[in-house]
Amino acid sequence: MNNHGRELYYGLIRMHVLLHARQEPVFGLAMMEELGRHGYRIGPGTLYPLLHGLERTGLLRSFFDSVGGRRRRLYKITSAGKKALDKARVKVDELHRELHEAHPRRISGLRNAGA
Ligand SMILES: [Zn+2]
Repeated sequence: MNNHGRELYYGLIRMHVLLHARQEPVFGLAMMEELGRHGYRIGPGTLYPLLHGLERTGLLRSFFDSVGGRRRRLYKITSAGKKALDKARVKVDELHRELHEAHPRRISGLRNAGA
């Protein structure tokens, strides 16, 4: 992912992780594949720090378990994570509406700005 994408997509990727971790415990490799399916090419050097960050801020909690005979660190959402995801969803819905408006609201109060 290039730096422009990084700036814009990180919040979306975090939300993505949270929504899947709400459904079931997730581990890094499966999450990378899922993100790839959505067109985010994200490697372990990016995803693992992101997962650790979500754990450090209390939105995810990790534990070890075996998945297909391999010991994996799994992440599940916390109750704080669920609340954060619910609030973020409202914001994404609002952003989505505005992104698709033909004429987003002018905010500068200038009459002929950019004309
Ligand atoms: Zn997904």
